[in-house]
This record gives sequence, structure tokens and C-alpha cells, in this order.
Amino acid sequence: MATQTIVHKKNDKSKRLAQVKSVPNLEKDIAMETEGLYVYYGQKEAIKNISLSFPKNGVTALIGPSGCGKSTYLRSLNRMNDEIENCRIEGSIIYKGIDINSPMANVFEVRKQIGMVFQRPNPFAKSIYKNVAYGPAHHGIKNKSQLDEIVEDSLRKAALWDEVKDKLHQSALALSGGQQQRLCIARAVAMNPEVLLLDEPASALDPVSTGKIEELIGELKKDYTIIIVTHNMQQAARISDNTAFFYMGEVVEYGETEQIFTNPNNERTENYISGNFG
Ligand code: ADP
Ligand code: MG
Repeated sequence: MATQTIVHKKNDKSKRLAQVKSVPNLEKDIAMETEGLYVYYGQKEAIKNISLSFPKNGVTALIGPSGCGKSTYLRSLNRMNDEIENCRIEGSIIYKGIDINSPMANVFEVRKQIGMVFQRPNPFAKSIYKNVAYGPAHHGIKNKSQLDEIVEDSLRKAALWDEVKDKLHQSALALSGGQQQRLCIARAVAMNPEVLLLDEPASALDPVSTGKIEELIGELKKDYTIIIVTHNMQQAARISDNTAFFYMGEVVEYGETEQIFTNPNNERTENYISGNFG
């Protein structure tokens, strides 16, 4: 995979002349990390002092009761919280040696390289083909055969190609929920990201579609670093390498998934995974 930076292009007027600090995640086994991250909605502190590192080509699950800040934290990882009025961030989020919130980081590059899939499938009201080709076309790829190739490759990676190859120009909205979610994954993959953020991607799906998404995550981790929010504990145990347990805006415990689920260190983690609350 070609190395891409997230700084503004050379002739971009908004480029700032800041020095890149030497930071730990230039080490090759960490894709990104947060350091002392706080997120506020107005006065409300939704994320409190979270420092986590995400291993490259690993699957990290974020678990915890509803309302404890999992989505807020995930959205901060590719600056989706910029879209929320009143939302403010302190601390750092380091990706490729740069704080993604620093003036020198380009938000479009950040979101291109750190893709996101939401809880409810949200395909555009366009054809299957256009859903996948939209991002690359917008980022300057105009050549038809090149776009065809990206569309096919992305749909294959999202395990959807065989089901849609004969109806690429039909509306995406006619697909089932599970197919729409895989289409949203294909749409993110088409941007050639390095990190994929998934916010409860299977929670609106039936068990068969959920199984397909879980299988797909196992395939995708070969190419991408995956950070997934799930409230389904069995799912976290099945698909992730590492797990962070969130509680009231903090990470109470982080470790290898097997350890978290078999031998948690913290009592609150133990109560949660044994179903005593949440
Ligand atoms: P989770 O994904 O773990 O269920 P969220 O990140 O959605 O938790 O929410 C964490 C806290 O932040 C909750 O108290 C929630 O009410 C609050 N919150 C989330 N989104 C917003 C928002 N856009 N404006 C104000 N408060 C919000
Ligand atoms: Mg959530």
C-alpha cells in the first residue's frame, strides 16, 4: 500500500508550516492512538482521559453499556465529531505522526484514510455502482475502466460482488439491510483506507447478515486496522483481538480479548461481561 500523508497538499492555501513532532505511532505496529483524550458536549464531559493504541491489522472491540461514550470516542477518531455543534476535544489523536486535529492535518485526507461505517446502513439513493464509485470519482479518478475496477474490487472485498454483479445499475435502496451494510463497507473500502471504524455495524441486521459481517471482518483485517463498537459480547469475543471496556466515559479495562472475557482484572468489567448490568 502506498504511503499517504494526511497533511495538506503543497499548493493548498490552508497549509500551515508546523513542525511534525516525533511521536510513538510511527512505530510500524501501531496504526493510531489517542493520548489523554477528552470529549465534551457543551459542559458535559463525555470522554475522560482515554489513552489507547490500536495495533495495525488488529481488530479492537469497544464494549460497554449504552451511553458510556463508545460512539463519541469512535467518531472522534476520524473527526466526525466536527459535524456536531458544541462538541469539543482535548488531548491528542495521533495518526501517521500527526495529531489529526492539528491545523496541518487535512480533514478530507483523515476521513479518506480512516473510513467509517455506521449502525444503520446509509447508502446513497443512487445505484449500487455509484455508491461505491462516488468517493473515488470525487477524489479525482475519472477514468471509467479504473472506476469499474475499484467498484468490483471493493464489492469483492465486502463479500457482495456475487450478489450484485448483474444489477450494478439498480438502486442501492432495493438491497436488503444486510446487503446495504456490506455496500456501505464497500463504499468505505473504495477509498483505500488504512483504518475502518465500525459503529455497531450489525446491530440492525438479522442473524444471517450478522454472521456475514462478522466473517467479513475476519477477512478485512488482513488489509485494514479495524476498530469496532459492539454491544454484543459474543460478537466481541468472536471477532476481536483486543477489547476496551468503556464505562461512563472512561476506559476501565483494556487488554487481549481472551483475557478480558475469561479473566478480567476489574470488577466492573466482570459484572458487565457476566450480564449483571448494561
Ligand atoms: P454510546 O455509543 O456508548 O452509547 P454515546 O457516545 O452515544 O454513547 O454517548 C455518550 C454520552 O454523550 C451520552 O450521555 C450521550 O447522551 C451524550 N451525547 C452523545 N451525542 C451527543 C450530542 N450530539 N450532543 C449532546 N450529547 C451527546
Ligand atoms: Mg453508540
